[in-house]
This record gives sequence, structure tokens and C-alpha cells, in this order.
Amino acid sequence: MGHNIQQKIENLRNTLHKYNYEYYVLDNASVSDFEFDQLLKELQTLEMSHPEFDDENSPTQKVGGAITKNFETLVHKNRMYSLDNSYSKSDLLDWEKRISKIIEGEITYTCELKYDGASINLTYENGVLVKAVTRGDGVQGDDVTNNVKTIKSLPLKLQGDFVDNFEIRGEIILPLEGFNQMNMSRAALGEETYKNPRNTASGSLKLQDSAEVSKRPLDCLLYQVLSVNNEFDSHAQALEKARKVGFKVPETIQVVQSIDEVVAFVEYWDKARFDLPYETDGIVIKVNNIRQQEELGYTAKAPRWAIAYKFKAEQVSTLLNTITYQVGRTGAITPVANLEPVQLAGTTVKRASLHNADQIALHDIRVGDEVYVEKGGEIIPKIVGVDLSKRPQYSVPTRYAENCPECDTQLIRKEGDAKHYCPNDRGCMTQVAGRIIHFISRKAMNVDGLGAETVELLCKEKLIENYADLYALKIDEILPLERMAEKSATNMILGIDASKQMPFEKVLFALGIRFVGETVAKKLAKSFKNIDVLLAADFETLIAVDEIGERIAESIIQFRNQPSNLLLIERLKDYGLNFSLSEEELKHQTDVLAGKIFVVSGVFHKVTRTELKKLIENNSGKVSSSISKKTDFIVAGDQMGPSKLQKATDLGIAIISEDDFLKLI
Ligand code: AMP
Ligand code: ZN
Repeated sequence: MGHNIQQKIENLRNTLHKYNYEYYVLDNASVSDFEFDQLLKELQTLEMSHPEFDDENSPTQKVGGAITKNFETLVHKNRMYSLDNSYSKSDLLDWEKRISKIIEGEITYTCELKYDGASINLTYENGVLVKAVTRGDGVQGDDVTNNVKTIKSLPLKLQGDFVDNFEIRGEIILPLEGFNQMNMSRAALGEETYKNPRNTASGSLKLQDSAEVSKRPLDCLLYQVLSVNNEFDSHAQALEKARKVGFKVPETIQVVQSIDEVVAFVEYWDKARFDLPYETDGIVIKVNNIRQQEELGYTAKAPRWAIAYKFKAEQVSTLLNTITYQVGRTGAITPVANLEPVQLAGTTVKRASLHNADQIALHDIRVGDEVYVEKGGEIIPKIVGVDLSKRPQYSVPTRYAENCPECDTQLIRKEGDAKHYCPNDRGCMTQVAGRIIHFISRKAMNVDGLGAETVELLCKEKLIENYADLYALKIDEILPLERMAEKSATNMILGIDASKQMPFEKVLFALGIRFVGETVAKKLAKSFKNIDVLLAADFETLIAVDEIGERIAESIIQFRNQPSNLLLIERLKDYGLNFSLSEEELKHQTDVLAGKIFVVSGVFHKVTRTELKKLIENNSGKVSSSISKKTDFIVAGDQMGPSKLQKATDLGIAIISEDDFLKLI
């Protein structure tokens, strides 16, 4: 019986590994999404009831779930070097001359795109992924294995034979389509959008919740195999074999015989790169023969056997007509350059972000200047300099806005903050409307029949000043509004009324507390159960909650210290909004562990670590990730870290086993 189940689980895993490979690497699925999901669910169910057959590399790992609070630093077995740069054919010929002096015989080269993301070093043992470490400073990096495992195209288990133990290096990238989609949904929520795919990709690797990482459409493109026993003759051959066993090695790689051919490759991709689904900022040229590579070796910072060729970022110059300032929902000010429209990398550019006052001062950017606009890796063009020879005679240095463009209040800038803020959060129309627009948005209160434009209109007409006012709106107040038909007015009132049913976690998110996003709101709702307990919590209690950091805790305290916010909440309560978990949500919960703070460490057998944490929370306990004086219990599984053990002993905290814990509840 047990054996049969194990076999079944194994089979499912292998099938799903294969389907993943077909879908994400070969882009050629052999089953429907539905079929895939069914099999995955079946596997999840089996794994849940048979933890004894756990496998760290099961395809179910792709959905994430593991939390990493502090990423462990690991020393690279083989140092991760930089690359020297070249910018022209003559640079490339110089390189050829240098290496020809060291090695004998013909040289062939591989040409690859330089993928623009975050580099990663992957270790495989006996066909399975065991470690994924970031480049860091080249000597040591961070262990981000849990997060990397969620990348769909990356094989957790290889398809077929390869060398037993090896490292493989690649770049974790965020393809443009996925990046744009992420930004569109953030913009819809009034959240700040991500600047560029590269930073977003590397930032994603350092998220604490791997389930969040799994939602990001990351990809991993491989570019180097390091095998312990030198099984390969050439770099291209190694990559070719790697591709066969499941790695995503781009087809754009090409083996060439001369620098002239390298130049042709460069020239082709200099244009064609804009049609790629991801960003590239250059080409990497490598000596193909591994023995020759070894002979050439390394300088202090880069291999002698490889060189990067950097594309010129596309740049044009145009006239800076005006600088205007935008106000966000949190009051943050962003300066915007309004340009004489100009063609750049296939699009018409009219505006560019100037980021903040320091950026303007740094380049001494002035209205009336001829400015250089660049579209490098980034989506939003940026101004990189000024053509001083064209500066008008009587130009004056830019004086950064002192007052809010919306409400004329004097702007403030806190120490250490790059941005200016409009402090008039109650009277500044854009901020007022912005908060209400966030409140009604789909992921918050999801109010049907009311949109951003109507909110702005309602604010302008002084019918509402805050989100609580929405619930006091009367139909005969809104009917006289421009373009408001009876039907839409009714729908709006109905929609607002219906939103009163939204659960606590949505209400909490809708309040618009800085840094309290959707996931954080969920976590807080679960862990504090109602708003009064949450708002009464002190700093220590807040940060003791798993995933709640200092920045969030400070922001919650700041929010509650403002009496107007408390007043708003009282009003919303009177209107009947949910400020505590519902009976249904509480049903599965007890108070057995109320007030107790737990730290979970090690490997467990009867329940998974995630289940264990859930059990603690469902019984009103709190899960914390680090041991402190506040910790009441440590639930210790196998292989608990020695430093944790030491700390727990020092502080005299009770250490209990999995069984002890299950008895407790
Ligand atoms: P740099 O950071 O400019 O010194 O360039 C070195 C980095 O380029 C490496 O750490 C890799 O992350 C990245 N890279 C991107 N594509 C490739 C490629 N095809 N071959 C080697 N390195 C690459
Ligand atoms: Zn203002």
C-alpha cells in the first residue's frame, strides 16, 4: 500500500516536471492547463496526507510557501567574476590580439546576448537542484534557493543524464510583458510602479515570502556550466547538453570563427534587440574551447576569455519645455519633464521623470535646455544630461517647487528622504481623492458602480472628503451631478452599500495605511483579529508578528496616532463595516494560545512547517521568526539551527517538540 502510493507520487512528480519543461522551456505544451492543474492538485493532496514522502524538489514547490526572513550568506565555490567591456570593433580586435599572444591555435568564439537581470549560481547534485545563490560581491552571495525554486522554467529535477555534480550560472530576468502587467495592476491600485525589469527581478529574489515570488513571472536563462570533472570540450557543447536536460538556454547563441563575424552578430542584435521579449544591454563574446579558456584564466576582476560588448543606449536630444510636479496619494511629489515630442527607440517621448530635487540639481537641468533623453534598459525614459552649448543666454537654475501644485501648501522634505511631500493630507484634493480611489478599488472594497472620475467629481463638489463620507451619500445629492443618470446613481448607492459586507482584511487594506498592502493586511487581520487590538498593539508586539517589519510597524503607529484616523474608523464601524474577523473565520480558531509568541525551527514530520504556523495562528498564538525576550515557546523539529538553540537556552525559553505542541492544542 505505502509502496504503491509512493510510486504514484513519484510518477506524478516526473510527469509534472516534464509538463513544466514542455510548457515553460520548449514553449510547446502537450496537455491543457486544466489537465495540468488537475494533476498538480492530485499531487498536492497526496503529499499533504503523506509527508513521509516529502521531496524538496517536488513540482508543488513551484507555488512557494517557504518564508525566509534572513538570507544566509554562502561563499561561492567558484568566484563569480565581472566582465570587461568593449564598445567598438577596434576594442574587440585589441582583445583578440591580447588573447592570441597567450594561446596557440585557432580560436572560435560564442556570441550570446547579455541578459539584463540578476545573476544566479545554481548547484545540482545527482540531477536535482540543491542551492541557488546570488552573485553578491562575487566571492559570497545570498542563499535564495526557496525563491528560485518557484521560477517556472527552471528544472528542479533534470530530464535525463547530465554530469553528476555541477554548477550552472544564469540570469534571472523579468520579461517585459510580465513586467508591464505587474505595473499595470500596481498602477490600478494607486501603488508606485516598478522602475525597471532588472531591479524588479533582483528585488524579487529577496522577498521573504516565496509564494509572492511564485506569482512573479520570472524566468531563468542559463549561460555557463561549471563541471567538476571537465566533461566538456567546448562552452557551446556544454550549453547544448544543458538545454537537452531541461535548462532554458536561449537559441540566440551562435558559434563564430572570427571577430568580423562577432561584429556582424553585434550589428544584427543592436537593432533586433527591441523585438526581444526581454531586455539586453549588450553581447557577451567567449572563447569557445574550454582548454583555451583555462589557459587564458582570469585577471583580478574578470575572465580573460570573455568580453562584453555594450550597446549604445539610444539617446536623442530635445527641448525641455516645462517642469511640472505630480502629487501621489501619499503626498509624495514627483517632478516631470515635459519635452518637445521626439522619436526614441520606436516610440514618441513627450515626458520623462526627473525623480527628485537632487537629480535635477545633479545635472543642473533647466527649462529651455536642450536635454539628452535616453532609453536604456528602462521603460520610462530618463534625462541623462544637458547640451550646455545650446543653453540660452539668460537661463536660470531650476528652483524646485516650494509649494504643492494642487493645494499650494508648503512642501516638506524629511531627513533621509529623497522626495518632497505635501503635508496637507486632508485638504490636498489629489491626496484626498487618491485615498478614496484606493478605498473603492477592486482589491480593496471593490465598490461597484463607482469609479475614479466620479470620486474626483464628488470631492470637487464637496460631497465627500473622506471614504467614510461615501456611506452617508444620499441619492438626491448625487443626482444633480453632471452626467449622473438615475440608474447610475442608484447603482452607485447600491454598490457602496454592498461593500459593507467586505471582510475585515479588505477593509484594513482599504484604509490606505502606508506599507500595509494586500498581503500584510491579511496577515494583520488574522493575527490581531480585530481593529481595536491591532491599534492598541505596541511596536514590539507588531514586529513580533511574522513578516511585519519595523517600517510597517512604525507606519501603523503613525496612523493610529492621528485622531482623525480613529474618528474615521469609528464612523465606518457605525456604518456597519467589518472591523473584526467573522464568525466563520473565527470558527476554526480557538483562544488556547492567546498572547503566546512562538518561534518555529527545524524540520517536522506530522505537519509541515506552514501547517504548524497556521495551527499556531488559528489558536490565537503569534508566530515570530526570530527569538527574543518576548518569545514564549520554541517549537523545535529536527536539525534546529545551533545558534537558535544557543540563544533560546541563554534566554531561558521553553523548547518544545512537535508532539508537545500538538498536545498543547
Ligand atoms: P558585469 O555585471 O557588467 O560585470 O557583467 C557580468 C554579468 O553579466 C554576469 O554576472 C552575468 O550576470 C551577466 N550576464 C548576462 N548575460 C550573460 C552571458 N550570456 N554570459 C555571461 N554573463 C552574462
Ligand atoms: Zn497638496
